[in-house]
Amino acid sequence: MSDQVTRRTFLEIASGLTAGVVGSTRLSATPLAPFVHTERNRAIAIASANGLGAVQTAGELAEQGMDTLDAAIEGVKLRELDPTDMSVGYGGLPNEHGVVQLDASCMHGPSRRAGAVAAIEGIKTPSVVAKYVLKYTDHIMLVGVGATRFALSYGFQQEDLMTPASRERWLRWRANRGADDDWVNVDGDEEMVQRPTGTINCNVLNSNGDVSSVTTTSGLAWKIPGRAGDSPIIGAGQYTDNSVGAAGSTGRGEANIKVCGAFLTVEGMRRGLSPTDAALETLRRVLETTQPRLMNEEGRPTFGLNFYALNKNGEFGAASLYPSSFAVWDGTEASVQDTAYLFERR
Ligand code: ASP
Repeated sequence: MSDQVTRRTFLEIASGLTAGVVGSTRLSATPLAPFVHTERNRAIAIASANGLGAVQTAGELAEQGMDTLDAAIEGVKLRELDPTDMSVGYGGLPNEHGVVQLDASCMHGPSRRAGAVAAIEGIKTPSVVAKYVLKYTDHIMLVGVGATRFALSYGFQQEDLMTPASRERWLRWRANRGADDDWVNVDGDEEMVQRPTGTINCNVLNSNGDVSSVTTTSGLAWKIPGRAGDSPIIGAGQYTDNSVGAAGSTGRGEANIKVCGAFLTVEGMRRGLSPTDAALETLRRVLETTQPRLMNEEGRPTFGLNFYALNKNGEFGAASLYPSSFAVWDGTEASVQDTAYLFERR
C-alpha cells in the first residue's frame, strides 16, 4: 500500500526546487478519509532502514494484540541492545568526551500522552525510560542526570555503554581530529574523522486504528556534551495524533527541529496529503530554513534527512533529501523499500 511518488512526480518536485521556487507550490490535498474498522485490517509498522527486525517484531506483536507503543518499543529495543549498532543504545558512538549520551521520545496515540529523555547516560534502553516518563509522571521530558536517576529508581541498570569497537572509533577520532592538538595521529585512518549518524524511528498502527511512535538514538557522533538532537523532541523526532497517524525522522536533527518535522508531516496528512507527499512537503520546508553554509555549490544540502509517515488508514511512505530506504511490515511480511526523494546523489 506504499504511496511512493512516481519518478515523474519526483522530477516535477526537483525541477521546482532547482528553478528556485522552493515552497511556492503546495501539493494538493483532499481531507483524510475516516478510519473504517474491518475484519481485514492488519497491523502496519514502518521504520528507518535499520529497523527491518523492528518492524517485523512490532508488527507481529501488534497483530497479536499488544498495545502499539509497547510493540514499537519492543521493535526498537532490538537495535538499542545490539552492540554492533553504533547509532543507537548500547554501543552507540559517544560525545566528544567519550561519554555515550542517549536521546529517545515516544507518543501513545490512544491516551494522547508523550514521554522523552535526553542526554541520558549509562542506560541501554532509553526508549523504555521515555515510556516510563509518559506512564508514571506528569512531565514530558527528563534530561541528563535527572533522567538517569529516574531510570535507576525503576531498577534500570547503569552500565558502560561503550563497546571495544565504539571505544576504538572514538579514540581514533580523537587522535585524528586536528593537526594542532596534543594527540598523536593514527596513520591511514582518515575514515575515523567522519561523523557516522544513525537512529531508529518506528511507527505502529493496529487493526483498531490506534497509532504510536518512538524514536531512539545515540545522536550525532562526537557531539558537544549535553547536545540533544531531534529524537527526544516531541513533534520533531516523532509525533502521533491518533485521529490522523504518526511520523518520525532520522538524519540531521538540527535541520528537523527548526521545522518541527514530525508534527508538520502529521499535519500534512491531516490536510489529506498522502504520507509520502506530507514527508516531501516537510523536506521542502527544511530547505527553506537551511543556512547557506549547509548548502553545496549546486544549492543542495550537505546533510541527510528522512521522514517516515503512516496514516490511520494504513497508508505509509517515506521521503528523504537524497535516495534512501525504509523498513515496512505491511501486515504480512517485512521489507525494505525505497524512499521518495528530492535530489539525486552525485
Ligand atoms: N537525528 C539524530 C540526531 O540528530 C541523528 C541521526 O538520525 O543520524 O541526533
